[in-house]
Amino acid sequence: AVRPDEDLLAGLNPPQREAVTYRGQALLIVAGAGSGKTSVLTRRVASLLRTKDAWPSQILAITFTNKAAGEMRERVAQLIGDRAQGMWISTFHSACVRILRREAEQFGFTKSFTIYDSGDSRALIKRLVKEHEADAFGLTPAATQSRISKLKNELTDAESYARDANMNDPAERVFAGVFADYQRELQRANAFDFDDLIAQTVYLFRAFPKVADVYRRRFRHILVDEYQDTNHAQYALIRELTKPVGADAEPISGGGGMMIFEPEPEPDAGDAASLTVVGDSDQSIYAFRGADIRNITEFERDFPGAKVVLLEQNYRSTQNILSAANAVIGNNFDRKDKKLWTDVGAGEKIVGFTGYSQHDEAQFVADEVETLRKAGVDYSQMAVFYRTNSQSRALEEIFIRSAVPYKIMGGTKFYERAEIKDALAYLIAVSNPADEMAMRRIINRPRRGIGDVTIETISRYAEQEQITFRDALANSSALGVGPKIQKAIAHLDAVLAEASELMLPASGELVPPTAVAEGLHLLLNKSGYNDALRASRDPQDEARLENLDELVAVTREFARNNPEGTLVDFLAEVALVSDADDLDDASGTVSLMTMHTAKGLEYDSVFVTGVEEDLIPHRISAGEPGGPQEERRLFYVGLTRARKRLYLSLAMTRAQFGEISVAMPSRFLQEIPAELVDWRQSPGDVNSRGGTQSRALNARRGGPGGGKRYGDDLVPLARREPSANMNKFANRIPAKVRDNGDMQLAPGDRIRHEDFGEGRVDAVTGEGAKRVAHVRFETAGAKKLLIKIAPIEKL
Ligand code: ATP
Ligand code: MG
Repeated sequence: AVRPDEDLLAGLNPPQREAVTYRGQALLIVAGAGSGKTSVLTRRVASLLRTKDAWPSQILAITFTNKAAGEMRERVAQLIGDRAQGMWISTFHSACVRILRREAEQFGFTKSFTIYDSGDSRALIKRLVKEHEADAFGLTPAATQSRISKLKNELTDAESYARDANMNDPAERVFAGVFADYQRELQRANAFDFDDLIAQTVYLFRAFPKVADVYRRRFRHILVDEYQDTNHAQYALIRELTKPVGADAEPISGGGGMMIFEPEPEPDAGDAASLTVVGDSDQSIYAFRGADIRNITEFERDFPGAKVVLLEQNYRSTQNILSAANAVIGNNFDRKDKKLWTDVGAGEKIVGFTGYSQHDEAQFVADEVETLRKAGVDYSQMAVFYRTNSQSRALEEIFIRSAVPYKIMGGTKFYERAEIKDALAYLIAVSNPADEMAMRRIINRPRRGIGDVTIETISRYAEQEQITFRDALANSSALGVGPKIQKAIAHLDAVLAEASELMLPASGELVPPTAVAEGLHLLLNKSGYNDALRASRDPQDEARLENLDELVAVTREFARNNPEGTLVDFLAEVALVSDADDLDDASGTVSLMTMHTAKGLEYDSVFVTGVEEDLIPHRISAGEPGGPQEERRLFYVGLTRARKRLYLSLAMTRAQFGEISVAMPSRFLQEIPAELVDWRQSPGDVNSRGGTQSRALNARRGGPGGGKRYGDDLVPLARREPSANMNKFANRIPAKVRDNGDMQLAPGDRIRHEDFGEGRVDAVTGEGAKRVAHVRFETAGAKKLLIKIAPIEKL
């Protein structure tokens, strides 16, 4: 007989087919990049539905980004039609938000809890670090935050930390205090941070077995993509969900907690959900965030009897690209060798390029993008990767100048803008009145003459009376503040109250989906926020108004896509926007992103830039155990995104933190067989003595300890006579990279800067190539400039 899902299997190779049709309890699909792991997972979902082995509502599929979730949902819908409705396809975080919203009241939160992003939690931690005088023990806010995050990912909560910590050690004691207070403040604010979303869901399931059982009954098929990057808390969550129904609790009789779900066939007690995970240990790149590769390597031990499927055929890349990637990753020890192959042929050679500076490198990328475009490659099929966000600036400058349409993937940037955070804080103040941080943010924005003293007065009053900060505002006459301030507070309170009425449903009532947009409009206008920006003469404020308009547009779009969406839903969606989720459509633009963000994606043509020591592998990885190996995996992820064309570029010098430093070719370059790369401008050429790539690399390795000892032909460029080769090259150096090495500046001199305008030199410090001018600009304020490279002229 023909299988009902036969059409879904068309074109799959035998192991892929097996992975789609297997119906046992636990399935592990391990395979290298581009072998169809995500495609197989998607088809497996479609197949489960088509064969009626699952109802849509019984499926929980976990992807690494919201964007990937959207794509998978769309793809399943394409494959099987509308029955895709009702599935949970989402990230770990989004799934947990949905669970917590339903269950928050069980443990002292309300449905309208706020989600703190890492900026929010950093701000709170900063305040607590100060209160505890914790920096005396080396506890910076950043270090404290990452330590707390690690602990939460390991499911260590503040209490158990305090229990096990060595309280005789003052540093430990202080940290435990900050951690405990942080948790208390979150609870008081009715808020969860990102790590809590997962950890608290696990605690919830463990503390309330009946609640856990509701979800065990519901989710009969759990599928997880990118399993190699799950951390311990996520692993524990999966373990909880795949325990047999009724494992911890008597089955619930009647409706009860089940009411929220459509009636579906009841699983028998003792049944456990089926679990499918797919992953590639070679692409594990989040160990620094607690991802644990052992989740995948020990899967067979954790789920006895698990079926393992290996996929070895790569469908994404040409053989040249694949060979390069295989060669690089082969240098990691402690890994299982995989034999990835393709039948699409060798394809074009990888193109290598070494620029004089990062601007020159960027120019190369922009030129090449244009060449590809003329050859018929759509911009949307090109991507540029870098290791660190700050590298995008040079690329953006040149792209703008060359009129190449581009888009930075990393949607969070928009939401990190001060005016957007302000607007969201207004919305949060309405949705979650307990969120004191949001209240503190908006209380004097725009300026209302409310200073820190008043804020502390309100806060103390709220604490005394055991009421929220927001309720304290409503009681402004009791605060004992001056009449002007009291009036300002009363006005803010009235605006918030009016917005609440508009946006929050009274019980049983439905608010129209446009309420969020209207409420936001009201808040920005009646609070005086927009007026303050309009009245300003700072040209930046114009841009801020535009951004706020954009946010209103986002709320309208949200209303269109979620006819039943509430303010709380909107805020959750915004809070969960991650780096890989772009705000708008990337069609017709080149995508720029970090290599971390690139995971799971694919493009026709890929530029991996900044292939230099200290960038990839990154400087900070050197001291971390396993750091350089993780960097190699990251580089491997970058290479394997390319379908047809791969470019590797680097610069000989790189300006960072106002200093020019000599950049060394990455060790990963020499791991790529030389015959695969066509060097347009090699590190050797730039070195003026006609050396070769390997010569430059050898020079790097030549010094004792293999560290950074410059070989003869790798002296910093500033000290080298320009060669014929470099002169030819110099024509291409964009205007911004200049050498002001001999500009004589003294205090009192006036200069003009390309971006900052005119200013006066206050002082000059440093020597030689490192001379720094301290300049007071008329509009841009005080700046320190490295004289040698700053785009300045003396007036
Ligand atoms: P990564 O490790 O990068 O996440 P992956 O293993 O998830 O990769 P996919 O993204 O699923 O791989 O697939 C890579 C490409 O190969 C996609 O373009 C996909 O459509 C294509 N592909 C997968 N399987 C087949 C097949 N059997 N026939 C043709 N193309 C396929
Ligand atoms: Mg994938």
